[in-house]
Amino acid sequence: MSNCIFCKIVSGDIPAEIIHENDDLLVFRDLNPQAPTHALVIPRRHIATLNDMQAEDAELIGKMHLAAKAVAEQEGIADAGYRTVFNCNAGAGQTVYHIHLHVLGGRPMSWPPG
Ligand code: IMP
Repeated sequence: MSNCIFCKIVSGDIPAEIIHENDDLLVFRDLNPQAPTHALVIPRRHIATLNDMQAEDAELIGKMHLAAKAVAEQEGIADAGYRTVFNCNAGAGQTVYHIHLHVLGGRPMSWPPG
């Protein structure tokens, strides 16, 4: 998608601090971190929201969670605990319409989220 900022990160047109990647996905640091570790796992392929996921995307969603786990281990937050979040649509706070899994950790977290 030509006007998608995360597609531009995938293509290298917008810089990002990439901390993990493979054929299916990228993980980079959030520009406006909400925790000492705040990374975003995105698929290379443009999918706007979780509502656009299809049954054939199940493996991709699983790989995104495995990437979150790998990054948590890499960042040293796996044992203390971390949170993964998908925001879907504006009511949940989604601002970038290319699915992304937030990985947050490095500080205590409360529940429920705001
Ligand atoms: P959302 O609110 O769940 O859609 O999350 C979008 C996230 O993308 C926010 O946490 C933003 O800080 C982050 N973000 C937006 N643009 C960039 C960028 O260019 N690089 C890294 N993170 C970004």
